[in-house]
Amino acid sequence: MTLVIKIGGAAGVATARALDDLSRYLSAADADRRVVLVHGGSDLTNALSARLGHEVRTLTSPGGMTSRYTDHETLRIYAMAVAGQINTEVVAHLQDRGIDALGLAGVDGRLLLARRKAAIRALTPDGRVRIVRDDYTGQLEQVNVRLLHTLLDAGYLPVIAPLALSREGERLNVDGDRVAATIAMALGAQELVIVTSVPGLLRDPGDPSTLVQRIEAAQLDDSTACAQGRMRTKILAARQALAGGVQRIHIGNAPLSEILNGSGTTIEALAVSLAPDREE
Ligand code: ADP
Repeated sequence: MTLVIKIGGAAGVATARALDDLSRYLSAADADRRVVLVHGGSDLTNALSARLGHEVRTLTSPGGMTSRYTDHETLRIYAMAVAGQINTEVVAHLQDRGIDALGLAGVDGRLLLARRKAAIRALTPDGRVRIVRDDYTGQLEQVNVRLLHTLLDAGYLPVIAPLALSREGERLNVDGDRVAATIAMALGAQELVIVTSVPGLLRDPGDPSTLVQRIEAAQLDDSTACAQGRMRTKILAARQALAGGVQRIHIGNAPLSEILNGSGTTIEALAVSLAPDREE
């Protein structure tokens, strides 16, 4: 049984709680459960940028999607945040709780290969389209599944920072939710869990009582029109994972075992119900 878990972009209390939940869950789970952890880093990247005096900027695509403008300096700050700080902190935390975590960024062993978009179309504040050429954001193309299997077979829990390698040898900022979905597909994982700062997909983002508990693949478009910003990227990642054969994607902020039991939003491939055998 393979499970991929993504934990949110903030280091600190929320992450520590999610890791404690994970440790408890793993001690109780059956021994042959294979787990890969992916983490984000956007909040720390913003905080570090502020401390280093580097402005945080956003790109808006003509389709309305927003993303971090990762110029070369931002890329370096991002690498410090995700690979330098968060990854080692997560690994140390898990090791302290008896879990043999092994941290790596996507550049290690060519774990994550991505393509850098040399020219990105983005909207200016007054709505015109301009071309951005110094963005170091990547689109994932390949996962080194053999490396992951080697680590899992050896009993490690891989902890992955979303920093990919381009074919030209550059480091690229890749979206953590997409990384988790792509790894889940590549490993043939049954379930993907996205631990975030909100209880799940909310019909009204300001009202936790409007949680959408269950969505079947066929209703994904209709049910997720309410998702904005970073929830939107999670839904896109879920869509990709479903298309790649992952059975269930859970999004939530409860303890892991509760999320797996459906306390957040569960997005499922349509269950095929087989007619019971009839006796002739
Ligand atoms: P990450 O887990 O990647 O660090 P967040 O926890 O910020 O990211 O991702 C969830 C974000 O999505 C929240 O900030 C939330 O306000 C926003 N959001 C937008 N639309 C919705 C929605 N319909 N339901 C829930 N959250 C939403």
